[in-house]
Amino acid sequence: MKNSTTWLKSRYLTAGVLLDGTNESITDRQEKVPGFKQSVMDALCVLQIGAGGLGGEIAQGLVRKGVGKLMIFDGDTVESSNLSRQLFYKEDMYKNKATSLAKNLVKEGIKKTDIEAYPCMFQKAAENKVDIKCNVVVCAPDNDDTRIYVAKLFYKITPVVFVGLDRQASTGYIFIQKPNGPCMACALPRTIENKREHCPNVAAIIDLVKIIAGFVLFAIDSAVMERRSNWNFRQFFIAGFAPEIVRTVEKKPDCILCGAMKGKVHKKQGAKVKSK
Ligand SMILES: [Zn+2]
Repeated sequence: MKNSTTWLKSRYLTAGVLLDGTNESITDRQEKVPGFKQSVMDALCVLQIGAGGLGGEIAQGLVRKGVGKLMIFDGDTVESSNLSRQLFYKEDMYKNKATSLAKNLVKEGIKKTDIEAYPCMFQKAAENKVDIKCNVVVCAPDNDDTRIYVAKLFYKITPVVFVGLDRQASTGYIFIQKPNGPCMACALPRTIENKREHCPNVAAIIDLVKIIAGFVLFAIDSAVMERRSNWNFRQFFIAGFAPEIVRTVEKKPDCILCGAMKGKVHKKQGAKVKSK
C-alpha cells in the first residue's frame, strides 16, 4: 500500500566557504592528487544507502571533497548506542538517521552540495518510483537482502561500491561492482547463500569504520575518475593476524546472480557524469 509520507525527502544545501579571492582554492591539495578531478567531483551525484557508522564517515568525506549531490536513504532511528561512532548528537536521539545525517552534514560542506535525505528503506523508495538516477551508488546497509537487491537493480547501469563489517568489528570489506562486470555475488557468493539479516546489538567501533570508509572514498574516485586502482575487492583485518586481501575479482561464468541476469535489459538509465 502506498503511503506518501514514508519516503518523503528533505533537502539540505551546504553553503560552501566563500573566499575573498586572494586565497588559493579550497580544494587545491586534493586537485594535486594524480587522477583526481575536482570538476568531476563537483558534478557527481552519489546515492548512498545507510546512514549509520560507515554511512556517516563516507558521507562526511564526500561532502568535504565537494561532491555535487548526495542522496541518503535510511529508515532507522538514532539510538544512544550509536553516538560513540556515528555522526549524530544528543539532539538527534529518536529521530530518523538519514534526515539527521543530512542536517549534520551541512556544516561539513566546503563547496555547494545538494543533500537529499530519504527517511525510509531504499527498497521501499525504489519500488515507489523515487528517482534513483545517479553516477555511483554506495551500499552500506546492515543486511544482505538490501545488498542483493542493489546488486541486481544497478547491475547494468551504475557502479556500486559495496561495503560491510563483521559482527566482531575485526574486519571489513569493500567491493566495486561495475556495470556488466563481476557482480557482488562473484566477489562474495556467501552473501546470497547464507543471507545475513538485520543484526542489531553486534560489536561495532569507530576505528575500523574510519579505515573502511577511507577505502570507500578512494573506490568512488577510482570508479568515476582517473585515480588508478589495482583492485576491485579489498578486505582489511584490523588486528593484523590475517593479511590484508587486495584482489581483482573476475566474473564467474556460473554466478547465480549476474549469470542469471544475462541478456536482461534494465529500463532505468544511469546518469553520465558531466563537468560543471
Ligand atoms: Zn556475478
